[in-house]
Order: sequence, then C-alpha cells, then structure tokens
Amino acid sequence: MKKPLRRIILKLSGEALAGRLEHGIDPERLKAFGTEIGEITELGIQVGIVIGGGNIFRGSAGESAGFDRVSGDYMGMLATVINGLAVQSQLVTQGNTARLYTAISMEPVGQRFERTTVMKSMAAGEVAILTFGTGNPYFTTDTAAALRGVELEADALLKGTRVEGVYDADPVRVSGATRFEHLSFDKAISLQLEVMDQTAFTLCRENNLPVIVFDMNRSGNLTRIIKGEKVGTLIEN
Ligand code: UDP
Repeated sequence: MKKPLRRIILKLSGEALAGRLEHGIDPERLKAFGTEIGEITELGIQVGIVIGGGNIFRGSAGESAGFDRVSGDYMGMLATVINGLAVQSQLVTQGNTARLYTAISMEPVGQRFERTTVMKSMAAGEVAILTFGTGNPYFTTDTAAALRGVELEADALLKGTRVEGVYDADPVRVSGATRFEHLSFDKAISLQLEVMDQTAFTLCRENNLPVIVFDMNRSGNLTRIIKGEKVGTLIEN
C-alpha cells in the first residue's frame, strides 16, 4: 500500500449483514458493524459504504423464478436500499452522522448520489451510505463499490467478507488452503477469483484503486487496516 488510508470505501455484502441468519438482517451483526465503523470515523477516516442486497434479493434468483433479468436486478438494487437504511439507522443510534445516498432519485428515502456533495459530506465526517448499486441492471454492488471508490478518489476499497482474505482454494471446504498476503490485479483476474467480479477488478486495476479483502466479522480488523497493519489480502497494481 503506497498511501496512508484517509478516505475509504467499505463494501459490505448483504450476506455479511445476514450474519447467522439465512435471510434478512442480523441485529447483532449490524450493531457490531456499527461499532467497527464508528471506531474508524473517530480516527478521522472518511468512510463511504457500498451495501449489497444478496441477503434479500439477487437478480439471478429472479431469473430462475421466471422474472425478467432487468426487473430482478432492480429488485436487487432496491434490496440494497433496505440494507442501507438499516445501516444508517444503526450508525445514528450509535452516535455517528450518516447519510443515505441512492444511485437514482428516491427522495425522501435518501439523497441522489452526486460526487461533489458526497465528497463534501465525507470530508465533514459524515458516513456516506451508497445504495442502489450503480443504478443499472447487469452490474453488481462490487462493481458499484469500485466505481464509487474511483469517483470519490478513495485510497482503497475494503471488501469485508467472512474469511481472512483471498486463498488459493476455498478455505471453508479445503483444509490447508493458504492465504495470499499480496496479489497483483493481473493475477487476481487470471485466477478468476470469486471474491469480486471481473468488472470490479478491471475498474480498480485501470484506475489504481487498491483492494483489501478481509474478515469483517473479526472485531478490530477494520481499525487494524486503517492503522497500517497487514490484515487480509492486498490486491494492487
Ligand atoms: N444489482 C444490479 N446493479 C448494480 C448492483 C446490484 O443490478 O449496480 C442487483 C443484482 O441483481 C444483484 C443485486 O442487485 O444480484 C444485489 O447485489 P449484489 O449481488 O452485488 O449484493 P451482495 O452479493 O453484495 O449482497
């Protein structure tokens, strides 16, 4: 990592919010995430959060249920707004200032994403919760996180997962799988890693946005990353 982290985009998947539940939002996880995020804002870090929606709906599930892909994707993007409201509400309850932004106009649920407004809000110490993905079907919230990271000139995209980083095999299924501490984007793309989609990786590679994949469920990890400790897997050019 060449630069210290001052402004970050944190990608939280819907699955992470579901915690122990199969669907929906686990209040305990939500609270834990609120604490972790609150800790790094206290260190003066500017935080944008891109939220997934997979705990509620995925476009691909819509297709298999007989909906058309575009409708399914809009349903998935709407799910990210539900999660975003939960995260915003939790952060506010825990004493932070948080604003909800949506990629398309959805007032009064949230304010429409506009780069300079969001950058000012983040610089003022408000956590920016960025929902409705990219606003377009056929994309993912990982790509939305990469896009927002590049637009908002973040120093890194932190991808919170349920494992310690990127492994050479699925650590849940393969015992003895080893974690990469560092990977180049070219290698990450050639390995066809499932941790992030190729469109997201390509956008990060082309715009020099480092990605850190880490275990968001391990308390204190987020703060450790901000303090410069080696946590998870760093992917950069
Ligand atoms: N989605 C989309 N465009 C976007 C972002 C998301 O169409 O820019 C839809 C897509 O159907 C996806 C769903 O929203 O399956 C939920 O997002 P994602 O699967 O990325 O959520 P996560 O896996 O992070 O929970």
